[in-house]
This record gives sequence, C-alpha cells and structure tokens, in this order.
Amino acid sequence: MKTFTTRENLSEYLEQLRGEGKTIGFVPTMGALHQGHLSLLALARQHTDKVVCSIFVNPTQFNDPKDLDKYPRPIASDTEKLLLAGCDVLFNPGVNEMYARNEHWHLEIGELEHLLEGKFRPGHYQGVTQVVYKLFDIVKPDIAFFGQKDYQQFLIIQKMVDMLHLPVKLVMCPILREADGLAMSSRNIHLSADDRQHALVLSKTLNWLKPNFDTNSIPILVRKCEEMIKAEPGVDLEYFEIADGDNLRPANQNTKNIVALVAAKVGKTRLIDNVSLQ
Ligand code: AMP
Repeated sequence: MKTFTTRENLSEYLEQLRGEGKTIGFVPTMGALHQGHLSLLALARQHTDKVVCSIFVNPTQFNDPKDLDKYPRPIASDTEKLLLAGCDVLFNPGVNEMYARNEHWHLEIGELEHLLEGKFRPGHYQGVTQVVYKLFDIVKPDIAFFGQKDYQQFLIIQKMVDMLHLPVKLVMCPILREADGLAMSSRNIHLSADDRQHALVLSKTLNWLKPNFDTNSIPILVRKCEEMIKAEPGVDLEYFEIADGDNLRPANQNTKNIVALVAAKVGKTRLIDNVSLQ
C-alpha cells in the first residue's frame, strides 16, 4: 500500500495509474476504521482496479469543537487494517494540506440540507460537500463508495454530483452491524458499558418497525417508535422519521421508497441509524 500526505504526490501517482488504464475506486473516511469501513473497501475492490482510501478528520463538518477534538485518530492501527484489507493507496493529508486560509464554500443544496441531521447539525453538510468535492477533485475516482449508515449524506453527495456534473458514480453500501444489532460507528468507542446496552434501542426499534410497517398508519408508527426510544434510560431522542428515501420528506401512503431514520444521544455520544422499509 502506498501512503500519500500531499495532493500533488497523490495526483501524480493516480495519473500514472489512469495512464495504465486502471479504474479507481474511492472510499473517503474519517478513520477509526471498523468492519463497516472495510466492507466499503471490499466492494470497491470488487468493482475497480485500484482502491484509494482517504483518512481525514474534516474540521469544517463539525459544528461542535469538542466533538472534533475528541474524534478518535488511531492512524497506526488504521494503516494496519487497510493493509490487511488490500487497500492500494491511503491518502492521509493534514488540515493545512486540504484548506488554504480564508476559504469560502457554499453549495445550494436546498431543503435536504436542513431536514433531519441538518436541523441538529447546522452547517454540517456544507462541510461535508466541501471536503468531498475537494477529495473527488484530487482523486478523480471512477466510483466512490459511501455507507447507507449516513443516508442523508449519500443523497446530498449524489445531489452535488448531479448539480455539478461531476464524472463519478456513487455506490451506496449496506450498514454493517455488531452481532447484537448496533450499527458500527467510530463513535461507539465513546459508549460506556451502560450506554452500549441502552444504544441497542435504536436498532431494536428499527427492527421492530420493519415487519410491523403495514400494521398501522405512518404517524401512529412514528409515535410508537418514539415512545419505545424515549422509554429507554440514558437515551435522548433527537428525531425519528419515516421518510421518502428520495428526498427525506415525511412519507405518506403513496411513497414508494421509504426509509426510517433515527438520531439520538446515548450518554454523551450522538448516534444515527436507519433502515429501508420497501
Ligand atoms: P466516517 O468515517 O464515519 O466518515 O465514514 C466513512 C464511510 O463509511 C461513510 O460512507 C459511512 O457511511 C461509512 N460507514 C460508517 N459506518 C458504517 C457501517 N456501520 N456500515 C457501512 N458503512 C459505514
């Protein structure tokens, strides 16, 4: 595996690969890698000749400086995991390499920016689109792989790609879970033993909803799910929504692509999860 910390050296190397006719798959991450990230890499390896993974904790997408500070950065063990997973290229730039001073970014994303996650993390998707745009510009991947775990993020990046006519195909990869159902997340390491148990209410609620989706109206189901989560000690529900999977507006009986999405603070750790209900 080759590791690069500067855009220039990475671009030069990837240019060479493209010259040899190789297709490039790209998996952007913030590190603290788990099996969920590695499943994206495995898919990328199946679909493209060379796989680039980036590890960059992007400051512009954090609206809480404490959250940015405490974000885990275990680069040595991440590098080891990528090697074992057969990653070809690691891009691990510093903040100064990615951002010139006084840089301004605003993408007109529309209402998707302000729904669900957007309500609780103002500015988050401006930071996400800013860094993903930069990374796409450097890596120029044929295909980029993102997790369904961050469902709204996927829709927004797809929207950016469509709006700006970026020459990249996006693939949404399934959510990997722990054996007991908890969605894997770099943030799970912050959960205490008690939090870890309480956090299961999120996947349990989504799992309950799936087979029960046809039993009641959507507003009643949302209320039931909210009640289940609110009844769990140590869990502070931010939102539970049964939404149209294409635009994240609340779903109704005519919606075809339906997804249930949840966000909650468990102890001090903010977790998200979702499930498709088609
Ligand atoms: P992050 O490092 O959290 O920015 O995540 C990097 C990529 O991994 C994103 O596309 C996430 O959606 C994806 N991802 C995170 N958790 C999981 C998971 N449990 N299963 C599958 N993909 C995931």
